[in-house]
Amino acid sequence: MTTPVYQNFINGHFLKNQSGETFAVKNPATDEVIYHVEVADAFVQNAAIESAKQGFATWSAMAPIERSRILLKAVELLRARNDELAKIEVLDTGKPWQEAECVDVQTGADVIEYFAGLAPAQVGQQQMVGEDFYYTRKEPLGICAGIGAWNYPLQIACWKSGPALAAGNAFIFKPSEETPLGAIKLAEIFIEAGVPAGVFNVVQGAAEVGQWLTQSADIKKVSFTGEVGTGKKVVASAAGSLKDVTMELGGKSPLLVFDDADISQAVSAAMLGNFYTQGEICTNCTRIYVHKNVYQQFIDELKARTEQNIIAGDPMDPEVNFGALISKNHHDLVMGYIDKGISEGATLLTGGKALSPESAPNGYFVAPTVFTDCSDDMTIVKEEIFGPVMSVLVFEDEDDAIRRANDTHLGLAAGVFTKDIKRAHRVIHQLQAGICWINSYGNSPAEMPVGGYKQSGIGRENGIETLDHYTQTKSIYVGMTDIESPF
Ligand code: NAD
Repeated sequence: MTTPVYQNFINGHFLKNQSGETFAVKNPATDEVIYHVEVADAFVQNAAIESAKQGFATWSAMAPIERSRILLKAVELLRARNDELAKIEVLDTGKPWQEAECVDVQTGADVIEYFAGLAPAQVGQQQMVGEDFYYTRKEPLGICAGIGAWNYPLQIACWKSGPALAAGNAFIFKPSEETPLGAIKLAEIFIEAGVPAGVFNVVQGAAEVGQWLTQSADIKKVSFTGEVGTGKKVVASAAGSLKDVTMELGGKSPLLVFDDADISQAVSAAMLGNFYTQGEICTNCTRIYVHKNVYQQFIDELKARTEQNIIAGDPMDPEVNFGALISKNHHDLVMGYIDKGISEGATLLTGGKALSPESAPNGYFVAPTVFTDCSDDMTIVKEEIFGPVMSVLVFEDEDDAIRRANDTHLGLAAGVFTKDIKRAHRVIHQLQAGICWINSYGNSPAEMPVGGYKQSGIGRENGIETLDHYTQTKSIYVGMTDIESPF
C-alpha cells in the first residue's frame, strides 16, 4: 500500500519542493510508516518568506476586530473537526484517543479563541507633556516563526499562532519532524476561515529547517518549544539577527506532599503528572517529595493504583489510557534511564520494563514506572526523562523540602499538596518555578500565563501578557508648540 506524501503548506496551498527530499513518519503504536513529508528546501523556504511578507501586509492592515472574527471562525472549524484532528494526533504521537479526543484540539482552540477575543482590546497610551503629547501604538513584529515539539503537536501550533496572528503578525511554523500533520490541518483551517494566504505557512523538516528559521533576518521572533539544549542553540542563532525569543523548554518539576494532605488526591496528581500522555509532558512532577509520616501510605496507594488502573494498548481503543512513546530512540532512552535508576540504587516499586500489549505488540511502550528510595544526586532525579518514570523521595522538614525542590537548573513547574492554606502559599512562593499548582496538577487554561524559571524558559505563552510578546510599542511624540532650538 502506498502512503500519502504531504508537501509544505505555503501561501494558502501545498507547494512541491525542488529537492525531492522527503522523510517518513511512523505510528509509534505500530512501528509502521503512515505517510511521508517533503522537506522544506531553499525553494520552499524562499516562497515561505515571500508569501509571509505579502500575508503580513494584508493581515496587519486589517482592523483587529476583523482579524478576531476570522480567528473565531477557525476556532469553530477546529471544534467541528475535533475527532478527525484528534485521530491525527493519536496516530502521530501514540497518545491515547481518550486524551486527544477531549484535550489536544480543545485546548488549542481555546487559546486561539482567547487571543481572538483580546485582539480588539489591545490599546496604546496617550499622555500630555505640557501642551505637547505622545501616544503609543502596539504594532505587530512582522514575520514570526514557531518551532514545535512532538508531544502536543496541534496544541503547540495553536498556542503559538493564536497570539501571533491575533496581534497582526504573519507566522511560519515548523512542527516536529515526528508529528508534522496536525499543523498542516491547522493551516487548511485558517485558510477556510478566511485568514489571507501567506499569514500562516507550514515548513517541514528537522534541525536544519529549524536553524534556517532561527537565522533568517526576515523573521523577527522565534517561539520555540523543545529541549533545553536545543533551546540554547536557538537563542544563540537568533542572536545573529537580534530576534525576540520565547523559549518553552524542559523541566524536572517537584511535587511536595505534606503530612496533612489528602493522600488520594496527591496520588492522583502524581499519577497524572507522570503517566498522562505516557509521561511525555514538560511540566511533569517527576520528583515527588513526600513527608515521612505519610510516605508508606502514599507509595502503597500509588503502587496499587498504578498496577490496577493503567491500561496500555492500541491508543485508538477508547478504553486505553496509556499510549506508546514517540519513537524507538526515545523508548530506548527512557529504558536507559530506568537501568540507571536501578544501577544507582533506587528501588523499583513498579514497572521498569518495556511493554508489548496484545493490541499493539510492536509499539514503543514503557510500563509506568515508580522508583522509591531515591536520593537527590541520582541521575533519574536530576535529568528530564520525558517518559513515565517517577522518582519518590522522603522529606521531614518544610525548609529542607523547599531547598531540595529548588536544587536544580530547571524551573518549569511545581506543586504542593497540603490542607494548611498558609503553608500552601508560603511554600509555593518559595519554589523557583513559573507554573505552580496547589492541591492540583497540570491544568493550564488559556487565561493563565505559562513558562519557565531558570533554564526552563524565557517569556510566557497564554495569558494577556503573551499578546505583548507579539507586538512592539511605537511611541509618537506630537509637537503642539514651536520647537526651541539653539541653532
Ligand atoms: P527537541 O529540542 O529535540 O526538538 C524541538 C524542535 O526543535 C523540533 O521541531 C526540532 O526539529 C527542532 N530543532 C532541533 N534542532 C534544532 C536547531 N538546532 N535549531 C532549530 N530547531 C531545532 O525537543 P523534542 O524532543 O521535540 O521535545 C521534547 C522536549 O520539549 C522536552 O524537553 C520537553 O520538556 C520540551 N517541551 C517543553 C514544553 C514547554 O511548554 N515548556 C512543552 C512541550 C515539550
